[in-house]
Amino acid sequence: MTTLPTSGARETVLEARAITKSFGAFPVLHGIDLSLTSGEVVAIIGPSGSGKSTFIRCMNMLEVPDSGEILYRGRRVVPKFRGDGQLLGLGELRRHVGMVFQHFNLFPHMSVLENVIEGPVTVQRKPRGEAVDIAMDYIAKVGLAEKRDARPDQLSGGQKQRVAIARALAMQPDALLLDEITSALDPELVGEVLGVVRSLAEQGMTMVLVTHEISFAADVSDRVVFMEDGRIAEQGSPDHVLHAPDNERLKSFLARFH
Ligand code: ADP
Ligand code: MG
Repeated sequence: MTTLPTSGARETVLEARAITKSFGAFPVLHGIDLSLTSGEVVAIIGPSGSGKSTFIRCMNMLEVPDSGEILYRGRRVVPKFRGDGQLLGLGELRRHVGMVFQHFNLFPHMSVLENVIEGPVTVQRKPRGEAVDIAMDYIAKVGLAEKRDARPDQLSGGQKQRVAIARALAMQPDALLLDEITSALDPELVGEVLGVVRSLAEQGMTMVLVTHEISFAADVSDRVVFMEDGRIAEQGSPDHVLHAPDNERLKSFLARFH
């Protein structure tokens, strides 16, 4: 359970309201509401094809919803708009909300350090020296200081994914979206990546993570959301959702992991 800070209520960082999305004639999301408060870790679980990736991509507008709204700290995100006042443009949203993907998406021709400073230098226009200092801090945090000059093809999958996490962190995001970041890894490499996510959770990073690592979700999340057929079929505390579910489809989904 989330422990509320004594000094007042937590703030809503990111909010999805009634998000719908179709691909062609095929509806994928049927109206999803999700609100993420500061310091909260929300795990999204559900069968393959249930719309988890589409939804988490909608949260930072990598997919533009057909209807519904995304709000970042109360400001409505509007695609194709620079943003001002009550509205927020895509560029600003993505400066605040980082994302890590299943397949790393590192720049193959760049070193670890160059991958991690790319965003701070080109997007945030930070001076290179400052960007390097920040980048090295996060590269060290994910345990890869000695690999700063290595290229992605010289790294294991687990190391690549830790670089991808460092790259997202170097933008100093307000929240992180993680989409099955261990699903492409050999089983023996999963633990090192989950360890990094766990330490971020302990440091209070606000996160949404789509994961098939059910026991990890139970461990680090404040709330678990079960998606099915483009809807949230059940949500609540990890104890409730994972250990005492009401929903029959969720029960059979969880049974696959035992
Ligand atoms: P999950 O992440 O839960 O496995 P996805 O969000 O990836 O689910 O996919 C949900 C459904 O949307 C699937 O049927 C998938 O084939 C479809 N889909 C996802 N992305 C696209 C796309 N770009 N074009 C067409 N169909 C898509
Ligand atoms: Mg997916």
